[in-house]
Amino acid sequence: MSEAIKLPGPFEIYKIVEFEGAFREPTHIIPLATEKDFQKTLSYNDTRFFDKTKNKLIMSFHGLLIKTSKSIILVDTCVGNNKHRPNIPEWHMRDGSFIDQINNTGIRVSDINYVLCTHLHADHVGWNTKLIDGRWVPTFPNAKYLFCEEEFNFWKKDKDANHGSWEDSIQPIIDSGQVEIVEPNHIIEPGVELLPAFGHSPGHVIVKLSDGIAVAYLIGDVIHHPVQIEHPDWSSKFCWDEFKATKMRKFIIKETCNKNKFIIPAHFPSPSAFQLTRLDKGVWLK
Ligand SMILES: [Zn+2]
Repeated sequence: MSEAIKLPGPFEIYKIVEFEGAFREPTHIIPLATEKDFQKTLSYNDTRFFDKTKNKLIMSFHGLLIKTSKSIILVDTCVGNNKHRPNIPEWHMRDGSFIDQINNTGIRVSDINYVLCTHLHADHVGWNTKLIDGRWVPTFPNAKYLFCEEEFNFWKKDKDANHGSWEDSIQPIIDSGQVEIVEPNHIIEPGVELLPAFGHSPGHVIVKLSDGIAVAYLIGDVIHHPVQIEHPDWSSKFCWDEFKATKMRKFIIKETCNKNKFIIPAHFPSPSAFQLTRLDKGVWLK
């Protein structure tokens, strides 16, 4: 399923969903979200974000395609097809329609100028490559793949981490000469800038889109699930540095709350783009 995300400005944003639904029990993703504490949250009673019958958080895995007047940029490339990920059933040897969904937007894979992975965890790099005749080749033949220097250098030293995704999803891009290592505050073009958001991973970056009318932050995994807006100190168990990750969540919440700004996280279910507002109890989604 691909879906246009309607923001007020001229940039076109499409969400390319690999899968969405009840995914894991709260403590499996967020250890501090115990049954007793999670039941006190707004997220618990919101059927968009939590499936009470299954006791599972509802999550989405999607990439974001941005069309500006100058270029087409894909932010995060999800899990990918045919990837050997035996430890996570939903990720293992997938046969999904990600590319068809891109085509459904009217954009072809060959039109994409930049691919930006907010970080190099296996669910953000998968469609960097596709399997052709037993070889992993770049999915986007004309794209520069932008990797933040800190993130790239960290995982280069630990290539077996992240379910082995370096070998099938990063190395082939290095071999094809399409990698561009960038600073964490790299500007792709006016109105499309990266910002450092280290914490969830060592070199995680976010994308700030300012199209003259709307401002949107594509925040990757800085906030995994809406319950972390209620409890910014609830890190996911995949966060590399909980202290820094918490600090980043608080920064994003403060930066966007009660302003004409949107957040588009990598795993929030539909509609996936939200504005934040302060309630008596704390911050929540508008
Ligand atoms: Zn993720």
